[in-house]
Amino acid sequence: MTEIRIALPSKGRLADRARRLFEEAGLPPSFHSDRALVARLGDRYRAVFVRAPDIPEFLADGAAELGVTGADLVAESGIELAELLDLGFGRCRLVVAVRDELPARSPGDLAAGTRVATSFPRQTERYFETLGTPVEIAAMSGAVETAPHLGVADVVVDLTSTGSTLSVNGLREIGTIMESSARLCAGPHVAGDPALQGEAESLVAILESVLRAAGKRYLMANVSRDQLDQVRLLLPGISGPTVIDVLDKDAWVAVHAVVDAGDVFDTTLKLKALGAEGILVTRIERLMP
Ligand code: AMP
Repeated sequence: MTEIRIALPSKGRLADRARRLFEEAGLPPSFHSDRALVARLGDRYRAVFVRAPDIPEFLADGAAELGVTGADLVAESGIELAELLDLGFGRCRLVVAVRDELPARSPGDLAAGTRVATSFPRQTERYFETLGTPVEIAAMSGAVETAPHLGVADVVVDLTSTGSTLSVNGLREIGTIMESSARLCAGPHVAGDPALQGEAESLVAILESVLRAAGKRYLMANVSRDQLDQVRLLLPGISGPTVIDVLDKDAWVAVHAVVDAGDVFDTTLKLKALGAEGILVTRIERLMP
């Protein structure tokens, strides 16, 4: 069996969520020692813990077959990686922001030669070049939002999710360069190897089933048989609700259906109004339609 090495973020914003996703997929890391940087993930996968910004290079070098890192970090690395799955967490945007007092309303309003502080020099340079406004880049390794206070630059390119860090620092967003979230990516050697490719596809199917299940709930209720037509309208399910006889209760049936987590509150109230009893809602671990 081909063992697949998966590079996972060792610390930082993406680390806990990535680890939790693998645990929910039935692949909890098992370490040999407390400080180990490698762990087994079930029989077929091995996790290698690396800093998120180093993962694209790690995959390009063939030191791992698959990796989880931010789309912003892949773009900044300039390395072409096959993106297999959007994992949905770590959502953020790479934005252009200016000191609030500046008149600029969009990146096009900035003059050529403007100083821009960022930890994403490659994308910043490319973005302003495409705009036809080459800028001077002040590369910083972090805390970019402090640049205006330090007199480094009045314009920054930085990641934001809620926007609160920017506004607390007197910065106003004027444009988005890219939307990012955590992605499962493959190294270039995977595509040419059918065995690796097959393993990668299996992992994608498992992770997808976990992500799909997260937004769904399994709902069960006992309803009167004559209410079934109305219940069917309420519970479309994946391929319609499952209807099961209830022992010694001819006039009743049990209905089971998968519903959107956001609809549970409404649906439960409506079922109750139809006289349903024994309503039970549970989480779903995996969903493979
Ligand atoms: P780290 O610096 O290791 O904590 O991870 C930074 C990565 O987390 C970024 O490159 C993004 O992929 C992701 N991320 C998600 N939301 C944010 C945010 N609001 N600010 C910075 N990084 C974020």
